[in-house]
Amino acid sequence: MSATCGVARSPDAGLNNQPISTTYPCDFDLDVELSGQRDVLTPLAVPSFNGDVTFSSVGFNVGIENCKADSLDVEVIHEGNVIYNESLSGEFLNRGTHLWEWDGYDNNQILDTKVLKSDALKIVFIGTKNGIDKKRTIEFDNDAEEVDWLDVRIDKNSGSAEVTLRPSFSDDGIDGTPPQGVTVVSYDYVKQLAKQGIEKYWSRTGSRAVNSPEGKFDVRVKVEFAEPSASDFDLERNYDTDFGRSTSFWVFKSIIYNYGFHYRRNARLGLGVVKQEADENFKETAAHEIGHLILNNYGGRFGYSWSHKDSSTVLTQSTLDNQNLPSSGEIDLMKYYEYHTDPVRNGNRIIAAEVDVLSLFWLTSVEFGN
Ligand SMILES: [Zn+2]
Repeated sequence: MSATCGVARSPDAGLNNQPISTTYPCDFDLDVELSGQRDVLTPLAVPSFNGDVTFSSVGFNVGIENCKADSLDVEVIHEGNVIYNESLSGEFLNRGTHLWEWDGYDNNQILDTKVLKSDALKIVFIGTKNGIDKKRTIEFDNDAEEVDWLDVRIDKNSGSAEVTLRPSFSDDGIDGTPPQGVTVVSYDYVKQLAKQGIEKYWSRTGSRAVNSPEGKFDVRVKVEFAEPSASDFDLERNYDTDFGRSTSFWVFKSIIYNYGFHYRRNARLGLGVVKQEADENFKETAAHEIGHLILNNYGGRFGYSWSHKDSSTVLTQSTLDNQNLPSSGEIDLMKYYEYHTDPVRNGNRIIAAEVDVLSLFWLTSVEFGN
């Protein structure tokens, strides 16, 4: 039936679209589809590295056909439970096609990308006219739009967000021989240090909360050893006195626990100091190397990540001139500086920059499909 035909026949189609009567029979129908133009939801609407506008909601084209609806309800269902519901009114009840947007938050103002990507998520639209229901259900087949090893859970009420990062590590064994009286740390020990480092240096809370397009949020990063995970890094325990250089360049991915190097430098100060230096430097290095995966996927490998945000050369990975370590305030975890960043003495100043922590939200964008 053409639109003109529908208008002519509809008992509701009076002048100015005012209903003439609700007692005549009407061939009311409801048609809903995911909007092809608005099918990517980016938490907090964080723009892309190039500044492309993103949307923090997913759109549905809701068609009210033949006559005005009496009511229109939406229910988002996850694992059989209604997690969000809304009664649409006003313009949405009129004949025609309307764009309705869901911002991904449930009734408790929580957005969880694990829920958004779940197979057990669906949305139901229920329209009524003269006591007759029309129900349309969309089951989703949603996916990570950028990377599948990050998720975010945002609590709008408390202004906080928890980012789950799933790295992957392998045991690359032990290099060199420990000094006499020193026990080799276990692979699991360094794996836990890497987890602590990522969580420490990539979280921003309190006075360092991030300013997003949708307000200020405390961001806590939590590391989970689960699938799907990021590309694998070898973790090596180096008891040789030569410094082993960690890397995330090209296909090389390794993070080195440099006990021998710190022993050579600090043994005179005692084994406690050596251990603290080895542990804290490894934590910071792990956070930096995993950070490359974040920068690779946000700003790009050559222009952003491997140049350490324009503070190093790309091929030889050397610090550029005039990269002074700031005398106060934040030290960017992902930049190279003229002097070594010292996580024992400057640990609380070294942190992932606000723009890079915000990029975690862009990286958790969800593509809706069905
Ligand atoms: Zn680096």
